[in-house]
Amino acid sequence: MAETNCIFCKIANGEIPAKRLGESAQAIAFADLNPQAPTHLLIIPKQHLASLAHAADADSALLGELLTFAKTTAAALGVAERGYRLVINTGHDGGQTVHHLHVHLLAGRQMSWPPG
Ligand code: 5GP
Ligand code: ZN
Repeated sequence: MAETNCIFCKIANGEIPAKRLGESAQAIAFADLNPQAPTHLLIIPKQHLASLAHAADADSALLGELLTFAKTTAAALGVAERGYRLVINTGHDGGQTVHHLHVHLLAGRQMSWPPG
């Protein structure tokens, strides 16, 4: 179910435009509006799920699909060989600003550690 006023639900159902970069059965990938790396996309479930903390045991197949789809998308975009970073900001201290679960896929430059 789409959540009213959720920007990523609106992207998933086409109400808000986004540069789509791929789709799986339960997920879509699109370019981040404010990229933090030469390649920066977001992978989201089509169905609303507020954050990883809101996922239930029954969501384990969906969570697995998000990662395998991220891996496939990275390969399709040609960044898999050099490498990439997946990030799931969760909750306030995690820096989550959009409350629809999303996996950041960042690539195209050397990442540093620790993150800010
Ligand atoms: P968070 O901080 O919640 O982990 O990341 C949210 C991400 O969503 C940010 O990187 C931000 O640039 C991106 N974002 C926010 N609004 C939009 C939008 O309307 N379209 C797209 N493509 N990305 C967005
Ligand atoms: Zn949503």
